[in-house]
Amino acid sequence: MSEQADSLYRRERLFIGGEWRPSTALDSIGVISPFTEQPVGRAPGTAPADVDAAVAAAQGALTESPWASWDAESRADALDRLADALELRAPATAGLVTAENGMPISVSSTVEGPGPARTLRYYAQLARTVAQEERRPAASGSGTTVVRREPVGVIAVVVPWNFPQSLTMFKVAAALAAGCAVVVKPAPETVLDAFQLADAAQEAGLPDGVVNVITGGGDIGAYLVGHPGVDKVAFTGSTEVGRAIGEVCGRLLRPVTLELGGKSAAIVLDDADLASAVRGLAWACLLNSGQTCYTSSRVLAPRGRYDEVVDAVADLARSLRIGDPSDPATRVGPLVSARQRDRVESYIAAGRADGARVVTGGGRPADFERGWFVEPTVFADVDNSAAVAREEIFGPVLVVIPYDDLDQAVAMANDSPYGLAGTVWTSDEDKGLEIARRMRTGTVGVNFYNLDLGAPFGGVKASGLGRELGPEGLAAYVEYKSVYLRR
Ligand code: NAP
Ligand code: MG
Repeated sequence: MSEQADSLYRRERLFIGGEWRPSTALDSIGVISPFTEQPVGRAPGTAPADVDAAVAAAQGALTESPWASWDAESRADALDRLADALELRAPATAGLVTAENGMPISVSSTVEGPGPARTLRYYAQLARTVAQEERRPAASGSGTTVVRREPVGVIAVVVPWNFPQSLTMFKVAAALAAGCAVVVKPAPETVLDAFQLADAAQEAGLPDGVVNVITGGGDIGAYLVGHPGVDKVAFTGSTEVGRAIGEVCGRLLRPVTLELGGKSAAIVLDDADLASAVRGLAWACLLNSGQTCYTSSRVLAPRGRYDEVVDAVADLARSLRIGDPSDPATRVGPLVSARQRDRVESYIAAGRADGARVVTGGGRPADFERGWFVEPTVFADVDNSAAVAREEIFGPVLVVIPYDDLDQAVAMANDSPYGLAGTVWTSDEDKGLEIARRMRTGTVGVNFYNLDLGAPFGGVKASGLGRELGPEGLAAYVEYKSVYLRR
C-alpha cells in the first residue's frame, strides 16, 4: 500500500505524475454504504488545476518518459506486472467495491476483484502479437509503405459506479497496451476503489504519468473531457451524459468511445427448457441487483407458454436472497444510492399506472430498517411501448411480454431505442444463433450471457459508439501513420 494512503477507506491525496499529490480542491468526497447508510470512507475532491496537472503528467509520460520509447514487449511486461499487483489486492478490492456500491460479494469477488488482472493479461498478450510497424508494397505502383500503429495519446477515462473496476480496466488495459497514458475519473460513489489502480501502478513501476487517478463529479468529468490536452475520451455511463460528451467531442473532433445504457431483450423460444433457462436468467437479467448495462430486462415469452414463463421468472425473483452485500449467500443487495432507489421506485409506479400487473415484488423488502433495497420485481401484461419496457431502469425490475411468433419476437426485441445486448433461450443452439443474427445489438448470448474479453463489446443506437475488448478494443487506442518510401 502507498505510504500516503492512511487506509483504503480514507484517501488523502490524488495520484498524479507517479506521486501522491495534495488536491487543490476545497471539498472532499464522502462514500456512504448503501447497506448501513453510514459513511464508509472519504477521498479528496479534485479542482480544475488538479485536472490540468494530471493531463500534463500524462502528456509528459508520452514525450519525456521511458514509456514513449518502450517497445510493445516492454509495455506488455509492465501490463503483466500491473496485473500481478492488482491480483494481490483482489480480495481487498472486492470488499471495497461491495462496501461502496452494495454489489453482492459473490459478484465482486469473482468479477471486480480478479477481473482487472485478467483484462490486463489479455491485452499484454495481444500487444506482444500485434506489430507496431508493418511494411507493404505500395498498391498504387512502385514504392513501399510503412504502416505504423501509434498511440492515440492522452486518454480521459470516465466511468460509472456499477462495475467500477471492470469498466475502468476495459479502457485502461487497451490504452496502455497501445502505448497511451490515462487520466481516470471514477464516479463519486466508487471513488475509493479507483486508487487500487494507483497503488498497483506504483508497485508495478509504471513510468510516472502513465496512470493518473483523480476524483470529482460531473463538473470535473466535463472539464477533463473537454481539456485541450486530452486526445481521446472513453466513457461508460448513462445515455444522457454520453450524448453530452459526444457533443463536446464532436465539436473538438476528438475520438470518443461511449458505452451507454441498454434495455436488452431475453427471447425465450417455445422449445426452451425453462428450469435451466431460469437459472441462466438470474445472471443475465438480475446481475448486480439489475444495475448492469447489458442486463436482459425485457423477457419476451411465447404466448402459448406465457403464464409458465411469468411464473418461472417470478419464482426466480422470489428465490433470490436479499441482504447484506458482504454475505456470500446474498444474491440481491441494496441499490447504489437513495437516488437510484427513488428512480427505480418511480419506474415501478409508472408500470402500475400503465396497467402492468405486479406478479412479485413492487416494494421495499420488509426485513430491513436500513439500506436502499428494492425487492426483485416482475411485471406481467406489459406492452412493449410502456415506459418500463423502453427505458433503462437499472434495478431489479423485469418485464415479461408475450409474443405470437418469432418474427414478432425479433421485431419487438429490435423495437427499442437501445441496442447493447440480448439473450436467446432455446434447446436448439443453431436456432438460437439464427435469432441472434437478426437482433440489432452489439452482443447476444445464447442460453447464457458472458462477456468475452477476446471479442468486441459495445452497442448500437442509444447504447453507444465504438467497441471495447478484443483486438477491436485495442484499435480504438491506435492512430495509424503511413510512411511512403520510394523503394
Ligand atoms: P452518469 O450520470 O452517466 O455518470 C457516469 C460518470 O460520468 C460519473 O463519473 C459522472 O459523475 C460523470 N459525469 C456526469 N456528467 C458528466 C459530464 N457532463 N461530462 C463528463 N462526465 C460526467 O451515471 P449515474 O448518474 O451514475 O447513473 C444514472 C443512470 O445512468 C443510472 O440510473 C443508469 O440508468 C445509467 N447508468 C448506466 C450505466 C451503464 O453501464 N450503461 C452505468 C451507470 C449508470 P457524477 O456522477 O458525479 O455526475
Ligand atoms: Mg452519478
